[in-house]
Amino acid sequence: MAPALCAICENARALVKRPKNGQKLCKACFITIFEEEIHHTITTTKLFSPGDRIAIGASGGKDSTVLASVLKTLNERYNYGLDLVLLSIDEGIKGYRDDSLETVKRNAIQYDMELKIVGYDELYGWTMDQVVETIGKKGNCTYCGVFRRQALDRGAKMLGIKHVVTGHNADDVAETILMNLLRGDLPRLARSTSIVTGDESSEVRRSKPLKYAYEKEIVLYALHKKLDYFSTECIYSPEAFRGSARTLIKSLERIRPSAILDIVRSGEDMAKLVPAEVTGISHCKSQKVSLSSADGEEEGAGGCGSNGRSSGGEMAEMEKKLQEDEEASSREFDVASITPRKANGQRHDRIGGRNGLKKDPGRKLTRQTLGTCKNCGYMSSQDICKACMLLEGLNKNRPKMEIEVDVEDEESSTLRRRMEGLALAAG
Ligand SMILES: [Zn+2]
Ligand SMILES: [Zn+2]
Repeated sequence: MAPALCAICENARALVKRPKNGQKLCKACFITIFEEEIHHTITTTKLFSPGDRIAIGASGGKDSTVLASVLKTLNERYNYGLDLVLLSIDEGIKGYRDDSLETVKRNAIQYDMELKIVGYDELYGWTMDQVVETIGKKGNCTYCGVFRRQALDRGAKMLGIKHVVTGHNADDVAETILMNLLRGDLPRLARSTSIVTGDESSEVRRSKPLKYAYEKEIVLYALHKKLDYFSTECIYSPEAFRGSARTLIKSLERIRPSAILDIVRSGEDMAKLVPAEVTGISHCKSQKVSLSSADGEEEGAGGCGSNGRSSGGEMAEMEKKLQEDEEASSREFDVASITPRKANGQRHDRIGGRNGLKKDPGRKLTRQTLGTCKNCGYMSSQDICKACMLLEGLNKNRPKMEIEVDVEDEESSTLRRRMEGLALAAG
């Protein structure tokens, strides 16, 4: 009996069953359609302009490695005209981040991209290992998320870059939507659905080009492209509520694979019902930009090296399962279910266009006022930003601040002063 043929080229043997829709494809067609879908996301949302310098938030994990690889491919294939740079955050987690940073350093060579590494210790005076030593393992993900968000911004500023792309995938977005739904936080739910989030004071925009890409397909893409990524999970456990939302998403996906994308689309539809003055979503260069509160939690823990959110080897298991599934499906001989489909070969001369978000003049919800932190100047809806508040708490528990004043740039010396101030205030 003949093996199943690829549903797109109808020529090669189908070796991949798409987790997203069950379509059976050959390796080459899977790689192409995965890339073309991301190209479609980029063009329809008008994400980039030619000449843009873009920092890729790179953790060495599968999501950001796939993002870097796909962006490099598309940039060359469609002449986006982008200058791509890798930006990594060193949270200071021994045995985890130091190893994943080695992966990023190899990626920088493989993709021929500039690499900038910014450390929590230089920015905040604390490594995550020290934070966990002080506060214990519970709640550490919150600190890490808040710190990472600011660190990415500050790293981008050091590079003179105004746009950071992160590897958040459809599963991450669905997870955040569900969490906000379960918390009844509609404004935050609305903000978490936009592909671009911004920051008025810092002028650094962030976006999620993989927001419609399934985590499982990202793993498959990485496997088939033989990408060099780091797949060990963060040694510190994720927040319990996020972990539960994640488990729920994975269970839903098992019975209904489209559930992930359905949640993302529902979130987008719900976002349209939330008044713009509440969400802070505004039009900027005809793009939907969501002004997010700088609390880090909003975008999820996607930065923790991709696998950091699941616990107990869940991702490793999934990767193994995917490989097995594929081997199994390559042995299948069911030809009847094949629907021929052509890959979308459409070319976009410009890097796309998109309709703005419809504004609904409906009921008023709690209004969010954006100002800047009195301590560090980072955007905040409170007098003191969340990172500074967390640092204040941490510094109270540290009897002596060890502050070294070396030759440092203006930004880090400002940060040092802010920490000294905090240490004094903490008495
Ligand atoms: Zn094919
Ligand atoms: Zn601050």
